[in-house]
Amino acid sequence: MEGKKLLLVVLDGLGDRPIKDLGSKTPLQLAAKSNLDWLVSNGACGILDPIAPGVCPGSDTSHLSLLGYDPFQVYTGRGPFEAAGAGIAVKGGDVAFRCNFATVDRDMRVLDRRAGRIKQGTVELAKSLDGLDIEGVEVLFRAGTEHRAALVLRGPALSADVSDTDPHEEGSNILECKAIQPGAEKTARIINEFSRIAHDTLRQHSVNREREEKGVVPANAVLIRGGGIFPHLKSIEEKHNMKSAVVAGVALIKGICGSVGMEVLEVKGATGGLDTDMMAKAKAAMDAFVDKDFVLINVKAADICGHDGRPMDKVKVVERADQMLGYIRDHMTESLVLAVTSDHSTPCAVRNHTGDPVPLLIFGEGVRVDDVQTFDEIACAKGGLGRLRGIDLLPLMLDLAGRNVKFGA
Ligand code: ZN
Ligand code: ZN
Repeated sequence: MEGKKLLLVVLDGLGDRPIKDLGSKTPLQLAAKSNLDWLVSNGACGILDPIAPGVCPGSDTSHLSLLGYDPFQVYTGRGPFEAAGAGIAVKGGDVAFRCNFATVDRDMRVLDRRAGRIKQGTVELAKSLDGLDIEGVEVLFRAGTEHRAALVLRGPALSADVSDTDPHEEGSNILECKAIQPGAEKTARIINEFSRIAHDTLRQHSVNREREEKGVVPANAVLIRGGGIFPHLKSIEEKHNMKSAVVAGVALIKGICGSVGMEVLEVKGATGGLDTDMMAKAKAAMDAFVDKDFVLINVKAADICGHDGRPMDKVKVVERADQMLGYIRDHMTESLVLAVTSDHSTPCAVRNHTGDPVPLLIFGEGVRVDDVQTFDEIACAKGGLGRLRGIDLLPLMLDLAGRNVKFGA
């Protein structure tokens, strides 16, 4: 028998805590969500610690876990994964750094660590530094959001054991990058050379000339920090013999999924914001099953409402997500195993991620349907799946899909 296909829907930051103003309910409890409730009534559910009980996950570490990679083993810092998120196709062994565009004076003293929180022109600025060759090492440099950027070094004998050039305070000079461990001298030299070239190139760049004419500070330097080496990750296809794809609006999620070999589908209207077209995402995901075995959909909107502390908006996001699940419900066949969960809680009262578990539902032929009738943080805790860790989810789905290999005789 050929294995079934897998669809994993991650409603980012969905989990919440009871809110007094909502009658001590969570936004998920309050929302009208007939499709999610139907799926849970005809499926199995539980709660899930995305990484481990009490661990407060980032979206990156959590998605690694949901995809079956132990973040404690493979996560080597934000640098590598932010670089992936900035659209660089990072490879195992690449050394990546987080960067800021900054403003310095003639003596390389940092006047503004964020170059006036520059918003426009960073793509052009980054382009002028992308593709350099320093000592035979390929330099990849991309703009991120606002003043942020990512730097990747690709070549032999590189090391992430080097110090930051970012002084982390204004009024101090850009620091010289130094080797922290023996063997990292070459990398330190390349970083210092890049830092020098960046200043020389950026201070003459037309974007900065225009900024100075308008009386705003130029982005005439790059501060470099948080070096990490990108891990050699076995792809989903190598591990599970599945062709896979991701539908997401947010660069970080695209980066994580791309780094494990998932095809990143570009969907018109998938913005990663509150205005994202969830129906377009669902349609793209269902269409992808023509040649894919596993698809992940990430919808960021609930997380944004959590960070902004807007519970009623979170309720509305859930109701829109429910329509999206309605489309999936209408178009799925018996050859699909569906899981709906989240990558972490982002309670509106906390305005940040917390280690609270998130609800999980699994729907598909053969699941042991439990008694839970509604999809929320509290009801799902009584479900037949009990309490799982993020890393347990994919094996569970693979087993239901008939794709697991027997352990033993
Ligand atoms: Zn997240
Ligand atoms: Zn978040």
